[in-house]
Amino acid sequence: MTKRPNILYIMSDDHAARAISCYGSGLNSTPNLDRIANEGMRLDNCYVTNSICTPSRAAILTGTYNHVNQVTTLDTHIDNRLPNVAKHLRAAGYQTAIFGKWHLGEGRAHEPTGFDEWAVVPGQGDYFDPVMIDRDGETIEPGYATDIITDKCLDFLSCRDTGKPFFLMCHHKAPHRSFEPHPRHRHLYADGKLPVPETFDDDYSNRGAAAAAARMRIRADMTYKDLGLVQPEGGAEVGDLLVPGWKDRKVPDVNPGEELRLIDALTGEHHVFTDPAELALFKYQRYMMRYLQTIASVDENVGRLLDYLDAAGLTENTIVIYTSDQGFFLGEHGWFDKRFMYEESLQMPFLIRYPPAVPAGTISSKIATNVDFAPTFLDYAGVPIPSYMQGASMRPLLERQAGGDWQDVAYHRYWMHKDEFHNAFAHYGVRDARYKLIYWYNEPLGQPGAHGGGEPPEWELFDCAEDPFELHNRADDPAYADIFADMLGKLDRKMAEIGDLPEHDSVAVLAGLRPLAGVA
Ligand code: CA
Repeated sequence: MTKRPNILYIMSDDHAARAISCYGSGLNSTPNLDRIANEGMRLDNCYVTNSICTPSRAAILTGTYNHVNQVTTLDTHIDNRLPNVAKHLRAAGYQTAIFGKWHLGEGRAHEPTGFDEWAVVPGQGDYFDPVMIDRDGETIEPGYATDIITDKCLDFLSCRDTGKPFFLMCHHKAPHRSFEPHPRHRHLYADGKLPVPETFDDDYSNRGAAAAAARMRIRADMTYKDLGLVQPEGGAEVGDLLVPGWKDRKVPDVNPGEELRLIDALTGEHHVFTDPAELALFKYQRYMMRYLQTIASVDENVGRLLDYLDAAGLTENTIVIYTSDQGFFLGEHGWFDKRFMYEESLQMPFLIRYPPAVPAGTISSKIATNVDFAPTFLDYAGVPIPSYMQGASMRPLLERQAGGDWQDVAYHRYWMHKDEFHNAFAHYGVRDARYKLIYWYNEPLGQPGAHGGGEPPEWELFDCAEDPFELHNRADDPAYADIFADMLGKLDRKMAEIGDLPEHDSVAVLAGLRPLAGVA
């Protein structure tokens, strides 16, 4: 009988693929993350089914879409009486543990279940001296979150029951907002010369209403805290509140002819701005510097775990995965944050090493999504995949056996449109190897019920091969009418397959499309 593999699942929070050097952007250096890819596989088309923290985590644990597991938003926490992958692995004889960010709720109804050992941060958690919760209650852990979470993983590994395989989830808080680096990394990426994305000054033309409406802009929506700046005492003149009732304010834009003085919270250095474009670039550089500095710590700590596996002789028989709960905008379209089905936030980085099965130094462009992770773990563990799970084991993909019948679309649905602070419209859609179809149903913000008085629903269709930055909506382009109809069919089939309910009416949509198809 083949020895069952250990599974080390490392996940960070909001880590875009572009900020991992093996993905080739040239932004930063992550040698330890790259090592996983070099000794295993890099996935280029791994996608999240709902680009926001809590729902993604529920999809990963349960192998189900959010309309099934009911964890649709940050505020709809997991019902931990339901099954999850850790419970299945534990029942099958694995020793299971999770350390770090949980974000699926606290208290007996929501805390981690299925784990022999666990210690998690409440909510988003803190970077410095974080509170951690375990079965015995809350403790303040002195130090830096990324180091502490790794220490707890290493303690678990060194004290584990060596008679059992292990399933260990190492969930970092970094590089999530507010991007607070460890002092040892504050010198990195600090020269203000990080490359600026081509779409940084996007004017959101040629697209639906959602892009222009979103409040995720670097130039207008980042807080003093996000950027490591001193927030002056005062009210609206200092900046808009991020969330009413909170204390964090946004760094304002500067009006022509006026002056904005910003003070570095660490060094006390003053920066004075009169030009809005110069201020926007300053904010971009500060944001990216801090974001990449927190990732340097993640990379180092992944290195510590890989070193442990080497020293303990566990490298050969341990599946190591590095991923993030979704992607993130790194200045593309002028944004930070996630939520949207646009490529930067839809794509999850995914690196996997398992020497006996996954060929080293390989890259896959096959489509996978986060509901596929749990079935994959069970498959490799030799545990039957329960019928309630909706994802597919990625084993054929990882072992280069995926044929023509491998899944050809990824489905995404975002439900958190009532969060008026980000103003990201409700939407769902599918992406295949080339095209992406999105239906925006644009419910009005902060209002109960559906569709009364918001923007009219609308479609977006992107040709991701011809238009990789998704700048030209082709939904109404006669030349794309057949492709629109084809993608609509893929969307309808996927929604029917997974049991999600559409807001659109395909019969009416196609009836409206036919004259256009005739022109094409
Ligand atoms: Ca996240």
